[in-house]
Formats: sequence, C-alpha cells, structure tokens
Amino acid sequence: MSGNPVVEVSDVTVTYGGRRVLDHVSFEIGAGEFTGLIGSNGAGKTTLLQVIVGLVRPDAGRVRVDGVVRTRGHSSFGYVPQKVALDPDVPLRARDFVTLGLDGHRFGVARRSREQRDAVERALIDVDADGFADRPVGRLSGGEQQRVLIAHALVARPSLLVLDEPLANLDPRSVQEIVALLSRVARQHHVAVLISAHDMNAMLPVMNRIVYVTDGHVASGPTDEVVRSEVLSRLYGHHVDVVHLHGRVLVVAEPDERSDHLGDHPPLTLS
Ligand code: ADP
Repeated sequence: MSGNPVVEVSDVTVTYGGRRVLDHVSFEIGAGEFTGLIGSNGAGKTTLLQVIVGLVRPDAGRVRVDGVVRTRGHSSFGYVPQKVALDPDVPLRARDFVTLGLDGHRFGVARRSREQRDAVERALIDVDADGFADRPVGRLSGGEQQRVLIAHALVARPSLLVLDEPLANLDPRSVQEIVALLSRVARQHHVAVLISAHDMNAMLPVMNRIVYVTDGHVASGPTDEVVRSEVLSRLYGHHVDVVHLHGRVLVVAEPDERSDHLGDHPPLTLS
C-alpha cells in the first residue's frame, strides 16, 4: 500500500452477550482502494462496518479514518447501510434526498448555495441518477434507489465510502452497473470504497483488496494474492477453485461445501 492508509483498524474486539463477534481484528485500506469485505452471513461484516463508521463502540481496539480516531459525526466517510427501505410515499425527490447528505438529516427550508447545488448535481451525475433526479425517491426501482443512496453518501466528498451489502436483492444487471459505477467513482475521486458481500464474484474484476472475515477473525491482502485456490481453500476450510474463463476470474466452491469456516486453522495474515 502506498501512502498513508485511509482506514486503520487496530486490534478491534466486539462482544455481544458474552459472544466474541470480532476478535482482535486489524487491517488497513489505502486511498482510492476498492476493498471487498467478504464473509458468510453472521460472520461479523455489519458489526465491523458499524465500528468503522462509529455506530458501534468496540470493547477494545481503535479505528482511524484519515489518521483521525473515529468519533460520531465525523465527515470523512459516506455510509450506505444495509436494507434501506425508502417509503413509497416519502415526499422527497431523489435530488432532495441527495441534498440531505450535505448536512445530515436536518430537514427544513435551508437555502442552498450555488456550490451546494452544484455538488448535488455532480453527485447525481457520478452515479448516473441525473435522469430521474426529480422523481419521488420512494417510487424508484431498487437499482435506482441504490444509486441515490450512493450519491447521498458521496455528496460531501468523503475519502471513504462504506456500503453494507449494496448488491443484495439486485438483479444481475443492476449488480454489474453498481459495481462499475463504484469502481469509476473510486478512481475518479480517489475515494476508498469498502463494500460488504457474501459472494465476491461480482466484485472480482474491480476489487484491489479483500478483507475476509470468518469466526471473528480477518485475513486481508491484495486481491491477486488472496484469490488463489490454495489461499481461499485454506480460508474457507474447503476446496475452492479459482477459474479463469474468457478473461474473467470466478471463485467456485464445491456445491455442498459453501459454509465457510476456518475450522481449527489460525487466521491468515497476508499483509
Ligand atoms: P454479517 O453482517 O456478517 O451477517 P453481523 O455483524 O450482522 O454479521 O452479525 C455477527 C453476529 O453478531 C451474528 O451472530 C449476529 O446475530 C450478532 N449480532 C449482531 N448485532 C448484534 C447485536 N446488536 N446484539 C447482539 N448480537 C448481535
């Protein structure tokens, strides 16, 4: 990783009701890196993202974003939580919803400066949402709403964009479009993107780094070092093939062996 990391997670431990969900987790993410946070359901991905954005306080350890220890209300990241349900009758246009990302959720009649209006317009264009910016946000399709949520998270120009399972419940075409636009945004604005997912395949073409979480531990490293049959098989605790097909890479687990546990293996540190 060149330069200072945007995110430094150091020795983070979270315990819920006596159960250790994250156990001395450490990793770093560099500026502009597209990082996949990969793990099965219940592995601890949401908890880890919530620690990073300051919604969950760890029992031990620390997170720095842009070199600053995380506190609530910090503006250097944008966050798209899991399963945001926008009410079909919410009286906001997509454009209004994105505008709220400039100053949190203070509703009202604040007059917007020219600069702020331009920032909203740019964020809408960045995610290809300018064509439906004036439609009610609750009436948009799942893929369109996801774009608006991303624009809302991007509008204040953070150095880190955190998205919790943004590809769940989207059709395959929308998945590809959202991955492509996030990759474009990461490159154009040099914003680090951290996305959680239980399946890494859709992100493989653009992902620079993987943080793999299982049983409260993480293994992290550059994608080309992690996405190798022997490394993934060790992480998953089962045989996993890495298939090169028509210039693409696919990760395929054996049909009955999708449950990914490290078993008794120690966590693997790649970088
Ligand atoms: P993932 O996002 O990988 O599916 P989560 O971080 O949501 O995993 O959950 C990890 C584990 O922690 C799960 O077993 C879940 O039930 C538990 N958990 C998550 N949030 C809480 C909470 N607020 N209180 C108690 N247990 C929780």
